[in-house]
Amino acid sequence: MAVAYLEKLNDAQRRAVEHGSDVPKGGPAGPLLVIAGAGSGKTNTLAHRVAHLIVSGADPRRILLMTFSRRAASEMSRRVERICAQVLGANAGIMTDALAWAGTFHGIGARLLRLYAEQIGLDHDFTIHDREDSADLMNLVRHELGFSKTENRFPTKGTCLQIYSRAVNSETPLDEVLKLYFPWCSAWEKQLRELFASYVEAKQAQNVLDYDDLLLYWAQMMSEPAIAQDVGGRFDHVLVDEYQDTNRLQSSILMAMKPGGIGLTVVGDDAQSIYSFRAATIRNILDFPNTFDPPANIVTLDRNYRSTNTILAAANGVIDLARERFTKNLWTERQSEERPRLVAVKDETEQANYIVEKILENRETGMTLKQQAVLFRSSHHSGPLEVELTRRNIPFVKFGGLKFLDSAHVKDMLAALRFAQNPRDRVAGFRLMQLIPGIGPQTAGKILDAITADPEPLAALQEIPAPPRSGADWPAFVDMLAAVRKGQGWPSEIGLARLWYEPHLARIHEDAETRKADLLQLEQIASGYTSRERFLTELTLDPPDATSAESGTPLLDEDYLILSTIHSSKGQEWRSVFLLNCVDGCIPSDLGVGSTAEVEEERRLLYVAMTRAKDHLHLMTPQRFFVHGQASQGDRHVYAARTRFIPATLLQFFETAAWPVVAQMTDAERQARHQVRIDVTVRMRGMWR
Ligand code: ATP
Ligand code: MG
Repeated sequence: MAVAYLEKLNDAQRRAVEHGSDVPKGGPAGPLLVIAGAGSGKTNTLAHRVAHLIVSGADPRRILLMTFSRRAASEMSRRVERICAQVLGANAGIMTDALAWAGTFHGIGARLLRLYAEQIGLDHDFTIHDREDSADLMNLVRHELGFSKTENRFPTKGTCLQIYSRAVNSETPLDEVLKLYFPWCSAWEKQLRELFASYVEAKQAQNVLDYDDLLLYWAQMMSEPAIAQDVGGRFDHVLVDEYQDTNRLQSSILMAMKPGGIGLTVVGDDAQSIYSFRAATIRNILDFPNTFDPPANIVTLDRNYRSTNTILAAANGVIDLARERFTKNLWTERQSEERPRLVAVKDETEQANYIVEKILENRETGMTLKQQAVLFRSSHHSGPLEVELTRRNIPFVKFGGLKFLDSAHVKDMLAALRFAQNPRDRVAGFRLMQLIPGIGPQTAGKILDAITADPEPLAALQEIPAPPRSGADWPAFVDMLAAVRKGQGWPSEIGLARLWYEPHLARIHEDAETRKADLLQLEQIASGYTSRERFLTELTLDPPDATSAESGTPLLDEDYLILSTIHSSKGQEWRSVFLLNCVDGCIPSDLGVGSTAEVEEERRLLYVAMTRAKDHLHLMTPQRFFVHGQASQGDRHVYAARTRFIPATLLQFFETAAWPVVAQMTDAERQARHQVRIDVTVRMRGMWR
């Protein structure tokens, strides 16, 4: 078939797209791996492959497409539709609408689990805990077991959750996880085992799943041959983007879905693996070909279509210094005279000023805000920039920051919906009941105990007499739950919850009016989903990008700047990219220098950041930056040096600039100032001891 869309691809890309074309009607062929560097068209190739399968006769309802974020999934669906339209014309829309199984691993897991709930002993109404809820539940259990009291150096709820999650996702026994990653917690192995056992029991009693459960239960479900066959049999093709960031559990799920790899396509870049802290392992992608007999077909791509030669040379220089890597260097035909810039600035305020100036200059030359992005290692690094953008009225959207959903009032509303769906969800129930006057933690706990034991918890709740001093607020609460639960159609249910919540909001918060606006925004977001259940699941798994509250929510068609953590910038590209705090302590992060493997992952992070840029790249190096206090140290300023990933030998790839011109400090000077600063803070704290 001579089709226009194939002609735009290079030979290697086309080979990947056409792999298995000899199978009639777009049926499944043997396993395929596309492994290649950044910007080489992996995602684009995957979209073409899906389109090609559909055009060749594959049933889109039987295609499972897994991406790293929901945003990536919907972008992919749009691309597939555009490509299909070249052949199918107006029918393309109908075909690609049927591409209903496109999403993240966790999102797809949640859908399958609900679908098979009855067969695997799950209650269909299960709710999903985000990390914070999970930590809260872990804490509750920790208290109940008395570990937090007797052992006052017992790991924090966050650490407990990390250990648990690591063990689950890497399928590694607890003692090994402790030895490898949390040696300082090894002494508590026995208690941790007990804690985790109770945690699992608590989740089951409350009918909640956490993030890890979505994969774990899915994997468990796949270990039952009859169900595995049924689930795997739903799909002719399973395609996965960003495969380098999957963990062992995810790969075992895939292998169980498609034993022998028939119909399986995975795509990724080992040099961009940045999620090992969630137990992702590049072994998945490296071992993929030989997992199968006969082995998988491998396609490598070496031409980069995204960046200029100067940007690519610098990025290649950085990743060349990595200890280990497998994909080769890329080349590009996009020639440019402009080298990436390394800009020294005095501090984070100057950094923000510089970037805002450049962004506005760029806009003068016709580059929209949307074509520009500011990236950073940690979400809080963008604080000073957000202030400056707000002051100058420049709209922005922040990716990977959860500000909006993290705010108390939004969490309250979500808890109301969750509790109505699943009255056994203790974390949600706890949160809600304590909003009612007269109800404290003890009363809430007792009520929850009573209703959890009942097969009809919501009915049981209605029977409970109003707690003293709760007055009319109690029946209002119970009625709201029943009404939401009854379901008068989505999204009107969220309106019911809001009407119930607003008086409480007014009582608790002084700035109730601004918060009310957020709740309306939440309703707006909710209207984009088909049901309560879908809304709660998707929102918990992959929250929509937080918009800047201060400068108002930009409308969809409005121009706005993107702020993003490097982790959330995966797979994306912009004409101009600024990277904040390109200094030791930020990248590599102070927290990421424990082991060689961690340092290497930080290097790959820098590579990911640099390879997002198409035309212009600015790496910022403030000489001083602000460190949010670790408990022991307090907030402080730190005098910083250029990141170790750009040693003097790589400077040839950059144009160095200082703004405004600042005197370079020697190491000795830096050290001296650093020292003085820390001494002072220590002294200050000493005053209170
Ligand atoms: P990453 O590793 O960052 O995820 P990627 O390998 O997935 O990158 P894509 O995002 O698919 O790369 O493609 C990068 C850019 O190159 C996109 O703008 C895409 O449209 C363009 N591109 C890819 N293949 C071609 C091609 N054959 N001809 C022209 N442009 C292409
Ligand atoms: Mg990609």
